[in-house]
Amino acid sequence: MKLLYEGKAKEVFSTDDPDKLIIKYKNSLTAGNGAKKADMEGKGALNCRISNIIFGYLESNGVPTHFVREIDETAIEVKKVEIVPLEVIVRNVAAGSFSKRYGVEEGSALKCPVLEYSYKCDELGDPLINDYHIMALGLATREELDEIAAITFRVNELLKAFFDKVGVRLIDFKIELGRYHGKIILADEISPDSCRLWEKGTDEKLDKDRFRRDMGGVLEAYEKILKKIDC
Ligand code: ADP
Ligand code: UDP
Repeated sequence: MKLLYEGKAKEVFSTDDPDKLIIKYKNSLTAGNGAKKADMEGKGALNCRISNIIFGYLESNGVPTHFVREIDETAIEVKKVEIVPLEVIVRNVAAGSFSKRYGVEEGSALKCPVLEYSYKCDELGDPLINDYHIMALGLATREELDEIAAITFRVNELLKAFFDKVGVRLIDFKIELGRYHGKIILADEISPDSCRLWEKGTDEKLDKDRFRRDMGGVLEAYEKILKKIDC
């Protein structure tokens, strides 16, 4: 195993199979493009388990994903994709940067889900980008964007139902997709690091906003999510 890349939340290793990678979840938490950092024992294992459960659910509902198998509690084997350098975001309820940018109170209902892209580029601070920018920069083709949008809205419907069943509101989330043998598949992770999850009834935040906003109880919130979905 050779370390190919160390990211903010995961390490990526090569394997003997050129088509596969090993991804290892770290205990680090970052916010504001790495400006704020912390290490929390057990966080890697929590996100790994939560993401694996979600990817298994999506795969069993026909969404193509990179997930191959669990290696141990923080490592998984995945299909090696060529990541489309976009953070693909869906918003069901106003929050975070959307609320700030458009002056809408957090928690306000949206008349329809919003699909939004950020250019995945740390040096530029992941700027907001649209279909035309993406095509003009050659980051993805029209056909790929159509495929990405179709998969992403399907993921949104499936995830909303999945979390609703366990008493959690899916406010928004970010996914990454990649090219694998000519097809677009879901890659990276889906966890409380990459979603906003509010408990139904109380609107208690069960996601990385607890870290971003110094609310405390980060691991407890992630554990609560795992407990709700691990059955
Ligand atoms: P970041 O790069 O934002 O710091 P991570 O620490 O999560 O993020 O690093 C994981 C890296 O692995 C990300 O750059 C992500 O795009 C990439 N990645 C995730 N899944 C795959 C995959 N199946 N094939 C190739 N790269 C992947
Ligand atoms: N998100 C993410 N990684 C990013 C940016 C956003 O996982 O680099 C997720 C974030 O957790 C939230 C959604 O995408 O669930 C929308 O994030 P927003 O743009 O509101 O982020 P903020 O600027 O508030 O961090």
